[in-house]
Amino acid sequence: MPGIDYPALRAAIPIEQVLALLNFQPSHRRDRRLRGPCPVHGSNTAGDRRCFSVHLDRHVFRCFICGAQGNQLDLWRQVHRLPLYEAALHLCRHAAIQPPRLAPKTNHHNSKTRNSSPPSPPPATD
Ligand SMILES: [Zn+2]
Repeated sequence: MPGIDYPALRAAIPIEQVLALLNFQPSHRRDRRLRGPCPVHGSNTAGDRRCFSVHLDRHVFRCFICGAQGNQLDLWRQVHRLPLYEAALHLCRHAAIQPPRLAPKTNHHNSKTRNSSPPSPPPATD
């Protein structure tokens, strides 16, 4: 299975959309920066309402309490506690887009065809 093109995925889903999918309610907004309760560690108390900081243009977030930080895919991964690959597929499902895939490598350039043994044909089932 081809891998996921993570840069393409991040380009397709802005952090603003991830926040919307997480029902993030900012408590403060200044230009393109948001503050609010942290969806990663689930802060709800009044004192926690500003611990989570997001920069919408740079697509990064940071929590000053639990220390979570990263890009929008990291946010989704940490909120749902999934491995990166699973998180990417999960996020694409929620965003209703096809996961961007890396182009499959068609030529098996495993380098150094030593001894010139002919490459065995791949099995018919792909
Ligand atoms: Zn947090």
